[in-house]
Amino acid sequence: MTCSFCNVALPVPLRTAFTYAVPESMRSVVQPGSRVLVPFRKQSLVGVVVEFVNAAPEGTKVREIARVLDFVPTLTPKLIELASWIANYYLAPVGEVFRAMLPPLTELKSQRQILLTPSGREASESLSGGELSHGLTGAEATFLTKLKEKKGAVLLGLQSKLGLDVSSLQKLQRLGLIEIHESLQAIRRETLRVIAWKGTGAGSEAAAAKPLAEKEEKIRTLLETERGPLPLPQLLRLANATRSLIDRMLRDALLESWEEPLDPAEDPFDTGYTPPAHELNAEQEAALKGIRARFELGAFGVQLLHGVTGSGKTEVYLRAIQEMLARGKTAIILVPEIALTLWIGRQCRSWFGARFEGVAVLHSALSDVERAREWWRVRNGEARVVVGTRSAIFAPLENVGLIIVDEEQESSYKQEETPRYHGRDIAIVRAKMESALTLLGSATPSMETYHHAREGKYELLTLASRVADRALASVEIVDLREEFQHTHLTSPISSKLHAGIQECLYSKTQALVLINRRGYSWSVLCRSCGASVQCVNCSISMTHHKQRNRLECHYCGSIQPIPKLCPKCQSKYIYFFGEGSEHLEERLRKEFPGARIARLDRDTARTKRQYQETLGAFAGGALDILVGTQMLAKGHDFQRVTLVGVVSADSSLSLPDFRAAERTFQLLTQVAGRAGRGELPGRVLIQTFYPEHYAIQDAVKQDYLSFFERELHFRRMMAYPPFTSLANVIVRDVRLEKAILWSRQLSQYFSPYDGERVRILGPAAAPLARLKREHRFQFLLKSPKRSVLTKLLSGAIAYCDAKEIPQSALLADMDPLSLL
Ligand SMILES: [Zn+2]
Ligand SMILES: [Zn+2]
Repeated sequence: MTCSFCNVALPVPLRTAFTYAVPESMRSVVQPGSRVLVPFRKQSLVGVVVEFVNAAPEGTKVREIARVLDFVPTLTPKLIELASWIANYYLAPVGEVFRAMLPPLTELKSQRQILLTPSGREASESLSGGELSHGLTGAEATFLTKLKEKKGAVLLGLQSKLGLDVSSLQKLQRLGLIEIHESLQAIRRETLRVIAWKGTGAGSEAAAAKPLAEKEEKIRTLLETERGPLPLPQLLRLANATRSLIDRMLRDALLESWEEPLDPAEDPFDTGYTPPAHELNAEQEAALKGIRARFELGAFGVQLLHGVTGSGKTEVYLRAIQEMLARGKTAIILVPEIALTLWIGRQCRSWFGARFEGVAVLHSALSDVERAREWWRVRNGEARVVVGTRSAIFAPLENVGLIIVDEEQESSYKQEETPRYHGRDIAIVRAKMESALTLLGSATPSMETYHHAREGKYELLTLASRVADRALASVEIVDLREEFQHTHLTSPISSKLHAGIQECLYSKTQALVLINRRGYSWSVLCRSCGASVQCVNCSISMTHHKQRNRLECHYCGSIQPIPKLCPKCQSKYIYFFGEGSEHLEERLRKEFPGARIARLDRDTARTKRQYQETLGAFAGGALDILVGTQMLAKGHDFQRVTLVGVVSADSSLSLPDFRAAERTFQLLTQVAGRAGRGELPGRVLIQTFYPEHYAIQDAVKQDYLSFFERELHFRRMMAYPPFTSLANVIVRDVRLEKAILWSRQLSQYFSPYDGERVRILGPAAAPLARLKREHRFQFLLKSPKRSVLTKLLSGAIAYCDAKEIPQSALLADMDPLSLL
């Protein structure tokens, strides 16, 4: 193609692509999907070529592409198509969608190699016999011979030394005699220096006395709330900080640092791993047969594998992948959290490793170098199975045949920042583009998914019993109202739960205790005036962290010292209310002094390593009790857990969100599934103040269908998904008067549309009326037809542009998971 202009998507929050001229010298190299370096305003940016155009828009001065970064386009045509779909559907700037898809740009030099292909080898061998074939010139023939002598690979750029020009290079490539591969050469290093914010200790007290400089504050936010501990080079880049600043902050004990081995093979969680049995039971066999029948069709389809916890869904996934690989296709398996990528990744490797060598793992906790390496392995066709979290749906695989979404109901599949896409929904869109099969797996499918399966839109496959016919755990309710009357309860641990744990300790089995808030107390109240201590930036109570000796906001990360007097009325009657995980751990240590106890939440598991260490210790039997947040509820297979206690099942029920019941039911059912996975029978105790609620009742019976029917009735009455589509629109600004003005203006745009086809609620103060200093007003759009919403919202964006309402003030969330 020799067009002289192309549209480039840039990572800026603007909803357009930009036209650039392609210099003569680059015309044969630039392709859709290539990364290019371009001048933009006063900087250079890396963008992606979306398409060629015949002319530049009139009246603009078109600048030239400065450099092409890829010889082989980074993104495949399918991914470009997917990106523009996402940009349209989720109303996201296309450049930001590409940013989510691209591999990290590391400081490492990407290496491009010229490789001799098998037919190139053949050709060069016949050449040495003195024959010129394929219409090659003498120089080209000599080059092939030299390439063969150099073990079939030289760095790109060296060809001119070997007497070959670029057009000949392209000719050889076109003839299939050579290939050009891009690979990132990682510097060999044994360890990686990791920097963390120092949460506790005498040093931080002293340091807290003097306020942080702007740079230091930036580093704190990065390390403490945005990203967690980071490798030094990454920190330097993200914070735009100097080495000497970091050194000084280390000396001042604001930071701490340690060395971590780079080798990901060293995985402490390995200790608890037992390879799966390679025998399928009759139900698994039947499900696999259903999947195979779909493969035969070779067309797009969606299947739901509904299997109770412990029914062996993973086994079915692995077999399905195996069959897909045998058909010469590739597969993606999405899991809801990072820890599961390790577990599933390991199983994939043990299954396919020997024969296919090709399993790649992609998730956000990898360092940039690791992630880029894995990404390019996929792009170069070295890996044919990708295991990863949400963004792995953008893995640059070609010829995709199967996309599995494990625990499809998990909210972690929804990205809560631009582009606000849902990984499961994108899995379906991508499968459609690739004529592939999407297999959704769950013990507690989302209302939407199960509804589609019942309506026949998806095909339903069921696993109704656990492997080896293990019984589901018995689930009992502890009515906290009764408990309070008997004991005037002061502990978060009821007498029944206490007795249960005692029994575990006596019989040398293990207990999991779950609470869904972290910190020590989640509210600080004044007994005199009733005021609670709120975050200065958000309309949210501050959480007390006892060990760190301060209050923290879990939404924006701001911190405050613990007040001695009420900030409102100066009374000294301050009290702490509502137990969090830190409190629960302290209480357990007090009640069971001999027991080996650990806590797992975002405060204790700040790195992948810490997380794995704790889980590994528990799986290996070095701990008796593991207490933590819902992190514990997902997927892990602990063989010796006989008791699971849920300290307060209610806190998720009382949220002002139509999905509250669904979430509570899912969480409790998942948790119940953690008990009794080995030979030992399991028991679950759920403490609640609302034992009558159907979400709790049905979770006790582990009766998904009963819950589904009752919840579906509620959704139909209230016109919520799956019966309508929703869009959540937030207007926000630091200045209250602007937020009010703009939401009024937007309301003028929306109001003529309010009627049969769309219901428009709002503007009203958002449930989180203030967040990170911004005032927030909310519109809720409901329509039976999703396309109506998309059209209305793109109209709203155009309207805001016309009224000069900044794009950053408008947040549009299609199919929102949370209405906060
Ligand atoms: Zn007060
Ligand atoms: Zn806050």
